[in-house]
Amino acid sequence: EPATAREAGGATIEFRGLRRSFGAAVALDGLDLTAHPGELLALLGPSGCGKTTALRMLAGFEHPDSGQVLVDGKDVTRIPAHRRDAGMVFQSYSLFPHLTALDNVSFGPRMRGVGQAERRARAAELLELVGLPQLADRFPHQMSGGQQQRIALARALALRPRVLLLDEPLSALDAKVRLNLREEIRRLQQELGITTLFVTHDQEEALSMADRVAVLRSGRLEQCAAPEELYARPATAFVAEFVGTMSRIPATRAGQDEVEVLGRRLPVDGAVPADGELDVLVRPEALRIVIDGEGASRVVNAAFLGAITRLTVRLGDGTEVKIDVPGHAASGFPVGSSATVSFPEHPVLVDRRAA
Ligand code: ATP
Repeated sequence: EPATAREAGGATIEFRGLRRSFGAAVALDGLDLTAHPGELLALLGPSGCGKTTALRMLAGFEHPDSGQVLVDGKDVTRIPAHRRDAGMVFQSYSLFPHLTALDNVSFGPRMRGVGQAERRARAAELLELVGLPQLADRFPHQMSGGQQQRIALARALALRPRVLLLDEPLSALDAKVRLNLREEIRRLQQELGITTLFVTHDQEEALSMADRVAVLRSGRLEQCAAPEELYARPATAFVAEFVGTMSRIPATRAGQDEVEVLGRRLPVDGAVPADGELDVLVRPEALRIVIDGEGASRVVNAAFLGAITRLTVRLGDGTEVKIDVPGHAASGFPVGSSATVSFPEHPVLVDRRAA
C-alpha cells in the first residue's frame, strides 16, 4: 500500500464489451468505456440504463455474463470484491451505526491487519482531508446527512485505493448541502488524483463535476465526452435531449444539408434524415425573441431563475419552445405579449419527429 492517500494516484479503468442480463432484463448490452488515470468520469443516464450494474462490476459485487473489467490493463473480472483496489460510497448512509467516525474510517485498515497506531494516524489524516477532524468521536446518529457522507468518503479512501466508486452519493441530501459536497468531492478527488466513477441521473451534477461524462442508454454507451462538448455537440438526439434543455420545432427538408424552419433556410449539423417528418432541436439560449406586438408567437410563461429568465413561447403553429433572456430583462417580455422568434445563422441539429 502507498504511504499516504496522496501517493496512491489513480488507475486506468476499462470496461470491454460488458453484458449482463437479469432474466429478461438486459442491464448491460455490450458496454465499452475507459476512464483515464486521475479522471472523474460521470455515468449518466435514465433509470435502469445500467449505471449501477457497471459500477458494481468494477467493485466486484456483480459479474458479467461476458466481457471484461480491466484495471491498469489487468483483467480483474474474476477477482472477488475484497481483493479489489476500490473504495465505494453509496447513496444511503452506510456507516456502521455502533462505531464512531474514527472507528468507521479505521475499519478497513483494521480488517487488513494494520496496527492500531498506524490506523489512528491514517484515520486522523482522512478526517482532516474531509474537513471533519472534530467529529472523530461522534456516532453516525449524532451527525447530519452531509457529515455522514463525508465520513463515508473518508472510509472509502482509508485503504488508499486507486479507484473511487460513487453511486449517487449526494441524492439523499438537501440542495444546499449537495452543492457544497459536489465541490468538496471534486476538490478532494483532484487533490488525490484518484480515478473516480460517479453514478448519477442528475445531468447538472454530472456536467458540473466531471472531466468527462458517459451517457448510457439501455445498457450501452451513447456518447462519452467532456461536458462542454456533450452540450455543444451531442452525437445523438437522445444525448441532446437528455443533457440540458432542448426544444423541438417542426422543420421541412430544403435540400441535402439544409432545412427550412421559422421561415428561414439553415444549414444542418450532420445529415438530414432522408424520410419522415423533421424537427430541429434547439437550446433555449440559441433562439432570439423580439417583442413587437405583431409577431405570430406569444409569451405564455416566464420563469425567473436569477441570472436568466426562461420564457415559454408558443409559436404560430402551436409549438411551445423555451427561450432564455437575461434575468434582469424579464420585465421586457411580459406574459401574453406578441413576439417574433428567430434562429441565428448557425448549423442546426435535426431529428426525425416521433410518430
Ligand atoms: P437507477 O438510476 O434507477 O439506479 P441504473 O441505471 O443504475 O438505474 P441498474 O440498477 O444498473 O440501472 O439496472 C439496470 C437494469 O437491470 C434494470 O432494468 C434493473 O431492473 C435490472 N437489474 C439490476 N440489478 C438487478 C438484479 N439484481 N436483479 C434483477 N434485475 C436487476
